[in-house]
Amino acid sequence: MLTPSEYDHLCDQLITLYDELDRAIIDDMVRRMMRMGKVSDATSWQAKQLQEAGLLYEDIISEIAQHSDASAAQVRTLFEDAGVQSIRNDNHYYTDAGLEGIIRLSDAALQTLNAGYIKCRGELRNLTLTTANTAQTAYLNACDLAYMEVSSGTMDYGTAIRRAVQSAADEGSKVLYPSGHSDRLDVAVRRSVLTGVGQTVRQLSAINAGDMGCDIMEITAHSGARPSHAEWQGKLVSLSGANAGRIIDGVKVLTTNDIGYGTGDGFGGWNCRHDWFPFIEGISSRVYSDERLAELNARNIEYNGKMYTEYEIDQMQRALERDIRARKRAVSAADTAVKNAPDEATAKQMQELFTAESVKLKKAEKELSTFLDQTGNLPDSTRVWVNGFGRSTAQRAVWANRKAVNNSSIDKSVGNGIIKSNKADSNIVIKPGKKYSSSKRGSSLISAARRQELQLFEESVCKDNIETALIIPANGKPFQKTSGNERKVLFTVEEMNLMSGGLLSHNHSNGTTFSADDIQMLVQTDLQEIRACNSEGAFVLRNTDKPLPDFFYDSDLLEVKLTEIEEELLPEMQLQLINGEITFEEFDKGIQQAAVEKLMNEYGFDYYFEVR
Ligand SMILES: [Zn+2]
Repeated sequence: MLTPSEYDHLCDQLITLYDELDRAIIDDMVRRMMRMGKVSDATSWQAKQLQEAGLLYEDIISEIAQHSDASAAQVRTLFEDAGVQSIRNDNHYYTDAGLEGIIRLSDAALQTLNAGYIKCRGELRNLTLTTANTAQTAYLNACDLAYMEVSSGTMDYGTAIRRAVQSAADEGSKVLYPSGHSDRLDVAVRRSVLTGVGQTVRQLSAINAGDMGCDIMEITAHSGARPSHAEWQGKLVSLSGANAGRIIDGVKVLTTNDIGYGTGDGFGGWNCRHDWFPFIEGISSRVYSDERLAELNARNIEYNGKMYTEYEIDQMQRALERDIRARKRAVSAADTAVKNAPDEATAKQMQELFTAESVKLKKAEKELSTFLDQTGNLPDSTRVWVNGFGRSTAQRAVWANRKAVNNSSIDKSVGNGIIKSNKADSNIVIKPGKKYSSSKRGSSLISAARRQELQLFEESVCKDNIETALIIPANGKPFQKTSGNERKVLFTVEEMNLMSGGLLSHNHSNGTTFSADDIQMLVQTDLQEIRACNSEGAFVLRNTDKPLPDFFYDSDLLEVKLTEIEEELLPEMQLQLINGEITFEEFDKGIQQAAVEKLMNEYGFDYYFEVR
């Protein structure tokens, strides 16, 4: 079973990858539009456009080919991770009932996962290929329109091109379904993956329940469910039908037919985020009690003075994020137009377009950040999701690249992390390579009194969800910083300058090890030691005097590096997981730790866990 919010965020990272493709396609269109040339006689002009359209088609096919390995790998990871997460979720219910839980996937379960992935990958590939056709058609339509506008004298050449560029960005790349229906690429990808993963995971839960001898499943519930689904959410279902009609825990047990399982608009149909999990008769009680179901649609989140349900807030956030993506496409299209403008005058007009679109993007980003500040909706679910999921190198590399290329991206930082002041607006001048001497390494830089202060600090904050840091400078007074929003601490440049040779401790109450931001902080500020404490003790990382490669100074690149190492370690750990040698929790935390440990050892840092 996946939770409704896990379904909600299932595609977040995959969409980032497809956004890249989307923008590449639009840029190809814009580049050709810039070569449209002055409108001459209709016949030769049209012949030229047809030729350009043919070349555009080839460009796009090659863009798709370039993205296909990354997207196939990512879809595979997504399915594997969804399977693992789903079993982890189900196991809570088995272990609560005193059972051992699933520690080994049956052949049937593995086949289901594999088949689901293969089907979804094929579907995505076919859909993506249709974008080449739709982009070609859109390009020709835009050229025709520009021709008509210019030749009839209703518009000058520059304005007509500007409109064509805007419409290419607005329309984006579209996919064409066999039915003739067309959709935005991101919408189609989301639907396809949500449906494919959902079908696989629901089947997996049912197979595992069968293996565990469990026939009754409880259906998850979420706020804002469509009326026909609201009727049965939170209710019980009999997989075989044998228990249907009985009253258990106050509700009548349904059949899979009652909930429309296997139909397009029923349980598990199009865009359905409902799922099911094992209900052990005589032991389990319904997770979604009648009271809890009634609470689902409570308006308990405030925004701009009005109250909203969780679902409404989620939808509003989704809309704001979509808007930002659209604005980014427009900025990128305008940028390409500027760079490819055939003459000075056109370049100037395109520059104006670029400026106007950039302003709109900034506004949209501001709106989202205000929204997140007010609603506190930097969703925990996203973090939970990302911690357990989606460790594909490709997706993080794309993400990092996107951040580097476009410093106005939305920063949905995941997990614990110290965030230094924003790259864009800081003047941090700290020279790489300035390391304290090795003779100082391991020496007790701080006094016994400071050690005690440190210990008291770690004991007091280790269980907090809000992140607090204690800085003990080499010279100067210790000071504390608490995060404004959870799990991030921001430092000023002055504060960072005080850190050289000092010690920094902070809390990772969820027990995770150092993030890329943490490690980069240690390296960049030349701290002697950084610590991440939890209720059992603290991860300790002591600086190295070895020369470090550049990626240590950029947390995005460092993140990519760590992910690459995780990828290397993944197959073996997955095997250990499936063979029951490690638990899901050990797997989850273990892979992060193993990657950090490997990298730290390689470069001569001291890395260990200090038990309290
Ligand atoms: Zn549903």
